Amino acid sequence: MKRDIIIAIDGHSSTGKSTLAKELAKALNYIYIDTGAMYRAVTYYALQNDLISNKHFDKERLIKDLDHIQIDFKYNPDNGIAEVYLNGQNVEKEIRQMRVSNFVSEIATIPEVREKLVAQQRKIGRSKGVVMDGRDIGSVVFPDAELKIFMTASPEVRAKRRYLELLDKGEDVKYKDVLENVIKRDKIDSERSTSPLIKTKDAILIDNSRFSREEQFNKVLELAKERIHKAKS
Ligand code: C5P
Repeated sequence: MKRDIIIAIDGHSSTGKSTLAKELAKALNYIYIDTGAMYRAVTYYALQNDLISNKHFDKERLIKDLDHIQIDFKYNPDNGIAEVYLNGQNVEKEIRQMRVSNFVSEIATIPEVREKLVAQQRKIGRSKGVVMDGRDIGSVVFPDAELKIFMTASPEVRAKRRYLELLDKGEDVKYKDVLENVIKRDKIDSERSTSPLIKTKDAILIDNSRFSREEQFNKVLELAKERIHKAKS
């Protein structure tokens, strides 16, 4: 008998959550959902519609527009990634830009935005067999998830990682700005009143300043297999 579970991977920005979650989903033949991409897509919508900038934020209008913001994931067999679509447009590349990173945590503080996205995430995970990464998956979206992982690392290790990723994508960025963004996002994510980033008691902590990618993956895969076995018995 195959018994699927929910795997929640939360943690600080740029800890490699999505890389680990993707590899894990592949190994277990589970669905992978990047919830950060959903908050990023809403932020991209706000930027495109001139609802947010360094000088203004039309929160009311964004809340009103939420019913017209449709986010979907579509599997791209060429790269093996479930890519994000905003109102029918593939925005996978656009949402990773620094201008989106600069505003996403602010957008993610809005309770109405969270409510909409959490409802969609719960629907996707209803039939289990899912690896979901984010900030509130183990605490709010799926508090009963069978396996919860919380990933962290020093801000410098994380900023370096994100900086190299952005350079690789051809973005013209400075390490200093990426480090600043990582620290700022952690602060907003941890201090917001709705669903702040926390490590739940039952989450397993992984500090990836100390482990290689392979070591992390093997450890989490082993844990996942154990939990799947337990769910069957
Ligand atoms: O995971 P990623 O860094 O792409 O997420 C972008 C931002 O979206 C985070 O910094 C956080 O502010 C927000 N987020 C959130 N809850 C989630 C996923 C992401 O608040 N479940």
